[in-house]
Amino acid sequence: MAQQDDVFKKIVSHAKEYGFVFPSSEIYDGLSAVYDYGQNGVELKNNIKRYWWDSMTLLHDNIVGIDSAIFMHPTIWKASGHVDAFNDPLIDNKDSKKRYRADVLIEEQIAKIEDKIAKEVAKAAKRFGDSFDEAQFRATNGRVLEQQAKRDALHERYSKAMNDNNLEELRQIIIDEEIACPISGTRNWTEVRQFNLMFKTEMGSTADGSMSVYLRPETAQGIFVNYLNVQKTGRMRIPFGIAQIGKAFRNEIVARQFIFRMREFEQMEMQFFVRPGEEIGWFKQWKEWRLKWHKALGLGDNKYRFHDHEKLAHYANAATDIEFEMPFGFKEVEGIHSRTNFDLSQHQKFSGKKIEYFDPELNQSYTPYVIETSIGVDRMFLSVLCSSYEEEALPNGETRVVLHLPAPLAPVKCAVLPLVRKDGLPEKAREIVDDLKFDFATHYEEKDAIGKRYRRQDAIGTPFCITVDHQTLEDNTVTLRERDSMQQERVAIADLHKLIHDKVSLPSLLRKLK
Ligand code: ATP
Repeated sequence: MAQQDDVFKKIVSHAKEYGFVFPSSEIYDGLSAVYDYGQNGVELKNNIKRYWWDSMTLLHDNIVGIDSAIFMHPTIWKASGHVDAFNDPLIDNKDSKKRYRADVLIEEQIAKIEDKIAKEVAKAAKRFGDSFDEAQFRATNGRVLEQQAKRDALHERYSKAMNDNNLEELRQIIIDEEIACPISGTRNWTEVRQFNLMFKTEMGSTADGSMSVYLRPETAQGIFVNYLNVQKTGRMRIPFGIAQIGKAFRNEIVARQFIFRMREFEQMEMQFFVRPGEEIGWFKQWKEWRLKWHKALGLGDNKYRFHDHEKLAHYANAATDIEFEMPFGFKEVEGIHSRTNFDLSQHQKFSGKKIEYFDPELNQSYTPYVIETSIGVDRMFLSVLCSSYEEEALPNGETRVVLHLPAPLAPVKCAVLPLVRKDGLPEKAREIVDDLKFDFATHYEEKDAIGKRYRRQDAIGTPFCITVDHQTLEDNTVTLRERDSMQQERVAIADLHKLIHDKVSLPSLLRKLK
C-alpha cells in the first residue's frame, strides 16, 4: 500500500510538472479540492469528452445532446429531492478538529475486514497452488468464516442505519467498532449531523428582489426539465436518450485523492427514456454498453468491476457502479441507475405541467421510465492517467517515464523534431508540421538533444515522434518513432498521414464499440 501511495504521489507531481493538472489558485496557496487543467490536461480532457459524446450521439441515432444552464429554477431541487435529502452525515474528532463522513469511516472499517479475508485467501492460494479451490476455502476456513460473519453483521447494521437515516446509530457503530481518528488517534467524536452538499448563491441585485439559487450538483436535472422540449422539437420516439456534458458542484465534506473528489467537477450524463416495464432490460443493456466503452480504451480488462448497490434510493429499482482500480483501490467512476419515473413525475407534480408521452404503438400515454448513465470526466481522466503512467527500466540501464495513453486520447498526436538546428532541417520539419496540423495536434521541437526530446514527448504520452535528418532532404523520408515500443522505422513523408491516422483517430476507437 505504501508503495502504491508513493506511485500516486508521483503521478500527482507528474501531472503538475507536465501541464496536466494544477492546484487551483496556486499562487494564493490553492483552494481545497479545486483544480485547473493545464495545456496538456485540457486536451486529454476534451478527447475523453469527445469519445463519450460521439459514442452517444453518433453511434445511437436515438440519442441527442443538450447543453442546459448551470443555474436553474430553485424549485427543481425541491422536486428532485436535493434540498431535503442531498446530505452527507458528518462527524468531527474533538481533538484533531478534523471532519469526516461518518458513512465513509464505517465503509473503510468494512473494507479493512474484507482486506483481511482477501489476504487469507491469497495466502492459501499460494500454499495450495493449482489445486486451490477458492469457493471451498471460503465456505470452510474458520478464520475466513469468522471475519465474513463480522463483515456481514456490520454491513447490515450500517445499511439499516443509513436507510433509516439514524444518525445516532451511525455514531454508535463508530464507537462500537472503536474507529479512531487517523490524525489524533483518539475516539473523541462529536454527534453525527446532516450536511447539505449544494452550494447556494443569490440571483438578482436587490435584497428583496433576489432569490436563492443553487449551483447544480448534477447535470441530470437539466435533462429532465428539458424532456418535453427535446421530445417535441426532435420528434423523438421512445426509447430515446438525451446526453449532456457539464460542470457540477458539491460542497464535499472530505475532499481527498486529488481530482477524484472535487468541489467543482464535470459530469457526462445520459438519460434514456423507456416504456414502463422495460427498464430492467435496458438497464442490463446499458451496463453492457458502458463497460464495453471503458474496455475499448485498452487500459486493462481486469481493472474494472461492477458494484451492484444493495441499498437502493427509494425511487430506484436497480443501480450499479462501474469501479476502476486506482492506485488507492477499486473506486467508482460511473453510476448506472434505473430511476423509474421518479424525476419526471416529481417535475410534473411541482411544475403542474403534464409530462407524458403518447406511445402510438400502445395507443396510450405514460410517464416514461429512465435509465441513467452518469460518469465523472475528472475521475475518468484520473483512471486514464494512473493506468498509463509507467517508470520503465530500459535495457541501457536508464529509466524513462512514459504515459501509455490510448493514442486517440493523447493531447499531442505527433511531434516533429529536426535532428539539428541548421542545414535547412528546421524548415523541412516546419513544412511537415504545416501539413499535419490540420488533422492532428502536432508539436514542433528543436531544443535539446534528440534523446531528451523523445523523453519529453514520452512523458506527455505523444504516440509518434517524427525525426527530420539530412537524408530527409535527399529522399523525403523521415524516422517515425513509436512511443510504447520505441521502434523506429524509415517512412516516406507522403505516408505519414495515413500511418498516424490509423492509430490516433477517434473513429478507430469508436469502431471497437460496434
Ligand atoms: P461518491 O459516492 O463517490 O460520492 P456519487 O455516488 O455521489 O459518488 P453520483 O452522484 O452517482 O456519484 O455521480 C456520478 C458520477 O459523478 C460519479 O460516478 C463520479 O464519477 C462523478 N462524481 C461525483 N462526485 C464527484 C466529485 N466530488 N468529484 C469528482 N467526480 C465526482
